Amino acid sequence: MLLIPCPWCGERHESEFTYGGDATATIPSGDQREDTEAWYQFVYERTNPAGDHAEYWHHSYGCSKWFKITRNTLNNNILDVPESSQS
Ligand SMILES: [Zn+2]
Repeated sequence: MLLIPCPWCGERHESEFTYGGDATATIPSGDQREDTEAWYQFVYERTNPAGDHAEYWHHSYGCSKWFKITRNTLNNNILDVPESSQS
């Protein structure tokens, strides 16, 4: 069981959340906006890191807010959670 600390709601069960993906991936911009290979890499080529990983999560069945955490993929320890800045 994974408990995820929402910055606004506190610690909640993982079933309330939707995984939003890798927070380190960057959308192609500038000269790469028209580059098909850059978009292919952004959409399909992702790493599967063993260890600390920055991720987006959506509190789907809670406050409906997005946030970024750092989670260790080996033991599910959550290392970094932003503080809520807005109510
Ligand atoms: Zn929440």
